[in-house]
Amino acid sequence: MTNLTQVMQYGLYVNGRWEKTPVNMDVLNKYTQESVVKISVATKEHVDVAVKSAKEALRTTFAPYERYEVLMKAAQLLLERKEEFAKILAIEVGKSIRESRGEVERAATTLQVSAEEAKRIHGEGVPVESAQGSENRMAFTLRVPVGVIAAITPFNVPLNLVCHKLGPAIAAGNSVVLKPAEVTPICALKLAELMEEAGLPKGRLQVVTGDGAEIGEWLLDNQDVNMFTFTGSPRVGELIRSKAGSRKVSLELGNNSATVVHKDADLEKATTLVSQKSFNNAGQVCISVQRIYVHKDIYEKFVTKLKEKTEKLVVGNPMDEKTDIGPMIRLSEAERVEQWVKEAVEQGAEIKLGGKREGAFYLPTILTNVNDDMKVCRQEVFGPVVAIAIYEEIEEVIRKVNDSNYGLQAGLFTNDLQFAMKAAREIEVGGLIVNDASAYRVDHMPYGGVKKSGNGKEGPKYAIEEMTEERIIVLNL
Ligand code: NAD
Repeated sequence: MTNLTQVMQYGLYVNGRWEKTPVNMDVLNKYTQESVVKISVATKEHVDVAVKSAKEALRTTFAPYERYEVLMKAAQLLLERKEEFAKILAIEVGKSIRESRGEVERAATTLQVSAEEAKRIHGEGVPVESAQGSENRMAFTLRVPVGVIAAITPFNVPLNLVCHKLGPAIAAGNSVVLKPAEVTPICALKLAELMEEAGLPKGRLQVVTGDGAEIGEWLLDNQDVNMFTFTGSPRVGELIRSKAGSRKVSLELGNNSATVVHKDADLEKATTLVSQKSFNNAGQVCISVQRIYVHKDIYEKFVTKLKEKTEKLVVGNPMDEKTDIGPMIRLSEAERVEQWVKEAVEQGAEIKLGGKREGAFYLPTILTNVNDDMKVCRQEVFGPVVAIAIYEEIEEVIRKVNDSNYGLQAGLFTNDLQFAMKAAREIEVGGLIVNDASAYRVDHMPYGGVKKSGNGKEGPKYAIEEMTEERIIVLNL
């Protein structure tokens, strides 16, 4: 089992070799703030060698059934080492150990689903003969790999979100240069070891660690990178899009997720699900519930019940089995959330629960009496804070949910079929979750946003569509 009590050093994984560099960066245990791992800092030369060897690897045949076998084997190895990976996640992210185990299981599922999809990549027949003058022709399409994919991933779900890029990219026959988040790179490096053990051919995966902005720029400068798949903040996502030129870009960005609780909702179920899905990973989840719109008839009851359930969440050491919520990723992030809540209170918001910071911990916080222009509503909090507002009319609440720059997912609790279907048509999001909170995801569903939440879909089947090109073959018979 990995011993992260002693500082370990990790190299870059380039051209099938592990290479330690003279310059290192510390990765901290987010609970103790001690350094647990030193990671290598890549130079431009390393990045260029990584891209070159990723490109060269594409010349060697790697058949779909082989991709299937490697990905299935990797999933099996991951499950065998579930506890080891979960402990790393708890240490490097500060995520509770129980939630970390869940992430490892989901990551294994993502790899399995990707493996299954590797066998189902196909084009389609195209009836060109229906055009006048093409009577003696036939056509079909092939889906071919895009080539070298640069995958850049965020800190908050550093194993499963890496699998959401590696799994489909490998299943589709691409090579990947992975740049994990600098504050949580350990799981990605361990995953590369595991992929190697599972038999992934040399060069199909490279992992370069170091400064995000520098490595990002070098990858963008390198024209042998054919596609960028990015999950992270809208600021960086837009920068990548602006510099990628005509290359493919898939962006999974932020959200200020809304969940609507209508007057006919099952309040017991709604408050349980909302309290579970607003504070996971200290709210550092892209679809974490942030804005809650509650119908006026049930507002008081909803707030009381949500408060009762949220009060029971245990904040503490992520390694403790009882803990629900650990620290935020950085002290400065907890301070930012503290500042936003303070500003909301100055503007008239009321703290029903929490509203306190203890070092890098921010306590689960419920705000009421908010307005849509407060930062805690308008921007992405990415912290354990929900803001509850009242509505009266269906049209009004749909307008409020849509009054956002973001559009990843939303939740709606109602048994009114008319409302649910109207919301399905009119709420501007990539996914609407009915009778659950916004933060519902299983790994094979299409997942991705509209507006500033990005473009392109994840979920292996859908990511493979992004990560392949459709080529038409016309036969003149
Ligand atoms: P971030 O944008 O700061 O960093 C993401 C990655 O980009 C990291 O690997 C970082 O090193 C790299 N990076 C930083 N500057 C770069 C640059 N100039 N060029 C290229 N790469 C660069 O995001 P974060 O703080 O790690 O993650 C939080 C954000 O991610 C939130 O906005 C959250 O909503 C979003 N997120 C979205 C999803 C989704 O699926 N839509 C999932 C998880 C997180």
